[in-house]
Parts: sequence; structure tokens; C-alpha cells
Amino acid sequence: MAYLRRRHLQSGRRRNGTKPWEHSHQTTTRLRWNTLSYDVERVLTNLNNSAEKDMIEALEAANMAALRACLYQLTGSSRIRDITPAEQSISAVDRASVPPIENVQDRRLLVAAATDLLRQFRDGRTRPRLPEKKSFWEQLEVFFGHSVSETDVDYWWEEFGVETHSRVPETFRAWKKCDAPTFSVVIIGAGLSGICAAIAMKTAGIPYIVVEKNSGVGGTWFQNTYPGIRVDTPSRFYCFSFEPDYPWQHHYATGEEVCRYLNYCVDKHQVRDQIQFSTEVMAAEWCAEEQSWRIQVRRSDGSQDTVRANAVISAVGLFNRAKVPDIVGLDAFQGKVIHTAEWDSECDLRGRRVGLIGTGSSGAQIVGPISSVVGSLHIFQRSGTWIAGVSNYTAKVSKQEVWLLENVPYYLNWQRLDAVYALGDRRTALLDVDPEWTEPGSANEAHGRLRSGVLKYMMDRIGDKPELVEKSVPDYMPLTKRLPKDNGWFDALRRDNVELVTDPIEGINETGIRCRSGEQHDLDVLILATGFYTTRFLWPIKWLGKDGLTLEEAWKRDGPRAHLGMTIPGFPNLFCLYGPNTNSMGGNSFTRAELQMRYIVRLLNYAGRNGLRSIEVKKDAYTRYNDELDRKLGATIWMEPGQKSYYHNEFGRIVTNGRISMHDYYPLILRPDLDEYSIT
Ligand code: NAP
Repeated sequence: MAYLRRRHLQSGRRRNGTKPWEHSHQTTTRLRWNTLSYDVERVLTNLNNSAEKDMIEALEAANMAALRACLYQLTGSSRIRDITPAEQSISAVDRASVPPIENVQDRRLLVAAATDLLRQFRDGRTRPRLPEKKSFWEQLEVFFGHSVSETDVDYWWEEFGVETHSRVPETFRAWKKCDAPTFSVVIIGAGLSGICAAIAMKTAGIPYIVVEKNSGVGGTWFQNTYPGIRVDTPSRFYCFSFEPDYPWQHHYATGEEVCRYLNYCVDKHQVRDQIQFSTEVMAAEWCAEEQSWRIQVRRSDGSQDTVRANAVISAVGLFNRAKVPDIVGLDAFQGKVIHTAEWDSECDLRGRRVGLIGTGSSGAQIVGPISSVVGSLHIFQRSGTWIAGVSNYTAKVSKQEVWLLENVPYYLNWQRLDAVYALGDRRTALLDVDPEWTEPGSANEAHGRLRSGVLKYMMDRIGDKPELVEKSVPDYMPLTKRLPKDNGWFDALRRDNVELVTDPIEGINETGIRCRSGEQHDLDVLILATGFYTTRFLWPIKWLGKDGLTLEEAWKRDGPRAHLGMTIPGFPNLFCLYGPNTNSMGGNSFTRAELQMRYIVRLLNYAGRNGLRSIEVKKDAYTRYNDELDRKLGATIWMEPGQKSYYHNEFGRIVTNGRISMHDYYPLILRPDLDEYSIT
């Protein structure tokens, strides 16, 4: 099919008779040598200064699928294109890989071709071909090994991260062509979504301030500083498409590294001076006469203020309010209690008797790093946890990989696409229940393979300890909760000073935890890895919309909802980033923030240009979108009987996650459908 597709593309015509690059809904500006996001001149300078030995060593260690894509983009060689990769797979770490190149001859061919080409670049005999959208489509299909739709090409081109396409805030500058009074905007939060919003507002020329409750940039990454914290999405992808060229030290960045990156973006785009730190939004009220929001803020010195803005962009995040469990006697405990999201760097765990409640992503992540430091560790597990192994999870980026990123033009971009693909739409199919599938514990064939993979990973590590296996195998399906990556969890369980306690907690007392069996575990420190108030969106801010409508009232039927995860009837000029049902939708938080910001800038520009002051989503658009969402969510593993996680609210509805593929979401979010809004 891909082959047919290639032939079809080579003819330069689409099925409808137009050329692939015609009728694109975004202007493709001609690429500069030094694009906004990726500096190919710097790569060539590096190459000039590098040794042959380093080159060969690095090329032999390359991700061959990415190297092949690079070479094909740079040369157009049919020999490179016609290499047949191995079968694509969905791995035991819920990744859908692009087809790998495993054949030894093919790998040699790629190394030889790359060596030859890089020498030519180095000796100035030729220059790298610039990526062009018209040939990108075919390159993408060669890389993925299957056909790609026209809409998807636009998405991938943006993710590729070299073009000044319309998701890059820089392009917003050119859109601002109106003399009408502009909107003023308050952005709540300086996490990654708020930073994205600030950069977008700045480039779009819309006056804004950012109000941030913390004293620094980074949101959840600023707040969560517990030992071992790191991302569980490859760093090459966990970054802005307009700032992909960052020297990540780890394949999976530590929390501190993510904060450093976010600070780098804030300073590079010069938005820091608009952020009011240590300032918390307490309430916001829509004022119909002024067509603006009155936002009540409280500063760390206790002073209060009211800020007015035409529009509010909420970028408060999902994981920003730590949840303390309602366990009898917690207050009585005389030792130290720390929540993972409110870590105390002064707390010395060396030699202490530590208890841990919670085995989600945070709990699973902290266990490995602290287990060798503490005197004893009791892990109080309410539900078992599936954990996936990623071979390079804690590894630093190797010197060969650094060489490739620094010396091979566009290797970085193909590596990035490799990661985007791995976590994209192919993988979201894992979530759908196949009614014909009968294997217990899994929902469909690919999901069954995933379960076998994570189970095998567990058995390889603790299979020789049946009592641990019995405690560890969860009674729910993988992916019904987030799947943590192994950060030393199983190694820790094998340690003599670590005990996995599955005896339910009866209560907490002055000296420790008493379990239902009556056994008492005395502790010095109790770590709560018990998560966040994820189902209370825009909370605890008190919102008063049109005609005195509160958010509680608007959502009283079955909890938070929004149109496209962003807009809510009765709340004009309020836009949510990372709003209801936008978690785990393919892409990641950076992708989502960029897509949503482009949409919001387009809406604000439209209103500003036409002298309109109030943008409110219509009830029927909101209902239609949410009905479709419910229908899709209803067919997922999350809604299978007995599955429970922080995705569900008290009505049993999934409010955090969406089951909408990027393929479906992208066209909806590309530009606002003005018929869906009352703009007055
Ligand atoms: P979480 O997934 O909500 O896990 C909370 C844990 O606390 C669960 O194991 C839960 O048990 C347990 N728990 C809650 N109340 C309890 C009680 N009363 N008694 C006993 N156990 C109780 O929270 P999280 O681990 O902080 O993760 C939240 C999200 O943050 C993740 O899903 C992820 O999206 C993000 N995160 C990401 C990373 C990363 O690697 N990038 C790291 C940390 C967090 P049950 O399972 O039985 O409910």
C-alpha cells in the first residue's frame, strides 16, 4: 500500500488531481538556512570540526530508521527508499515503533551512504537538501511504512519542527493585521501550557500577564522535586515543536532538566517579565457591562488585588493540587509526613524507617532511588501496579547520539518524529475494547500482547519469588491507569530492607501504620504518593460566569466538560489549556498546548479584527462534541466494569482523559468553526 502510495506521489498528483502541495491550508514559507527552530549551519560547522573515527562510531550506533529517513530526505536516493524494514510492532512499553531496520546489509549500506554524504558536506562538495513539505509526505510514508492522510501530513510537518508553520508562535506576529482594540489576557499558570500561551500572546501582539502561584516557572515540574522524578515520555518529544533543538542530557529528562528547559524557553522568548510569581488567583468574575473578567489575586505577602482582562487562559494543569488521603489517624502520626508533590529537600531519609502510601507513577518512581538510602521501606499497596521496562529510561544520552544530533542534518527531527509516532494514534488503538476478544485481562489483540509483555517483564525480575508475584500482578488491565516506567521498582522489591505490604491499612497512629490484620509498622517518615485532585478542573478558583453561573452549577450533572477541552457555555472569553478530557490524547502536553493556542489566537484575532468583545461557545456545539466524546470513551478499557483510576470522577465518568485520536482532533482544533461560537 505504501508502495502504491509512493508511486502515486511520485506522479506529483493526488487522487483529486491536485498536486500534493496545492490547497494546503497553511502557507509554507520558504525555509531559511537557519530556521527558527533548527540551525543546520551549526550542524555543518560541527561536522567540519569532527573526526572520522567519531563519525563512523556514531553512525554505527544510530537509530537506523531515523538515519534512513534522514538520508532519503537529504538525497532522494531510491536505494535508500527501497530498503525493506522489519515488521512494525506495539511493544511492551505501549509504544508503536516505526518499522526498524534490522538487516545487517541494510545497516551497512546506511552507514556507508551516510559516511559518504557527510564527507561531501564536510568538504563543501554539496549542501544538505532543505526539507520541503511537498516531498515530506512521501518521506514520511517511507519512514512509517504506511500511507499517511493529507491532514496528518500537516500535523507531522509541524511536529518535524523545522518550518515556520502556523503552530510556531512566530507566525502569529504576521497574523496581527487589525487596528481594532485588542484583547487583554490573563494567563493563569506558568507551567508548560502557560509558557506556551505567554509566547503565543507575545508574538501575536496581544497584551497579557501570567499569574503564577509558585515562585518559579515549570508548574508541576517546579512543584514535584521528590527523589527520582523524571518524565516518562522521551525528552526529544517532550518539548515544544518550535524549540526542539535542546541538548537533553537524558533520554528521559529529570524533573530538574525539564524545569531548566522551560526556563530556557521563557528567557529565549522573553516572557519572564510578564510573569507575576507567588501570586495566586482566588476568584474570577465575568462582568457583562465591561465584557471582561475581574480576577482576584492574592500575593505571597497576603495583599490582594483585582486584575481586569478581556480574556482568561487557564493553564493551571491537572497535577497541581496534592491529594492527602482520608485515612483515620493521619494527624496523630508523630513522625514526618511528606507528600511527593510537596517534597521537603531538608528531609533526610538516610537510615530512617520509611512508609510509602501510593503506587501510581509518583510512588513507583520514588521507590528505586530511596530504597538504597533508607533503613527500611514499607510500601503500602492498595492496588498492584503494572510497570513497563524501558532500556534507556535513566540513561544519559550517549556520546554517539550527541554526535549524531550535532552533526547529521535533521537527524534530530527524525528522531523526534520517531518518538511522536511511538506515542501517537497507532498506540491509542490499544485502548479500544474489541467485543470479539475473549482473552481475560486484555481488551484486544495488541493490548493482549502488551499485557503479556509487561507480565513477562515482571516475571523476569521477580518470577523466582512467588509471594512477590502474587502481590504484584494487578487485578486490572494495563493502561486503565497510567503505566509507570521501571525506575528501579523491581530491584527495590528484591532488597532485604524493602517490604511490599498488601494487608489493607486500618489506620494511622502516633508511631506508624496499623494494618487490618492487626500488624503494626512503626515509622519515622511517611511518604504520601497519593496523587492529585485531578477531577476538579480550574479548582479551587471560584468562577462566576454569565448571569452569575458558577462552574459547579454548569457541571453539576456529571462533572467537568468543555468543547474541545477548551470552552464552556456561560463562560465567555475563558479558554482552558489541558482542560477536561484532554489528557492522554496522542501527542503530549506540549503538542496539545501548541494546537490549542493556535486556535485561541485565531479566535481572539477574529474578534479583535471585527471589534467584537465576547466569545462564547454555543451549547449545542458543546453538547455535540461531548456526546461524541462519551460515545468514544464508552468503548474504551477505562469504562470496563471494575476499572477505577484518577481518570474517573464521582459520577463514574472519565473526566481527565479523552479517546480522540490526533487524526480526529487536529482538524477540529486547526481553526475555530465560527458557527460554534456566539461572538458579540
Ligand atoms: P496516582 O496515579 O493518582 O496514584 C495515587 C496512588 O495512591 C495510587 O496507587 C492509589 O491507590 C494510592 N492511594 C490513594 N489514596 C489512597 C488511600 N487512601 N489508601 C491507600 N492508597 C491510596 O498519583 P501519582 O502517582 O502522583 O500520579 C498522577 C499522575 O501524575 C500520573 O498518572 C502521571 O500522569 C503524572 N506523573 C507523571 C510522572 C512521570 O513519570 N512523568 C511521575 C509522576 C506523576 P489505588 O491505585 O488503589 O487508587
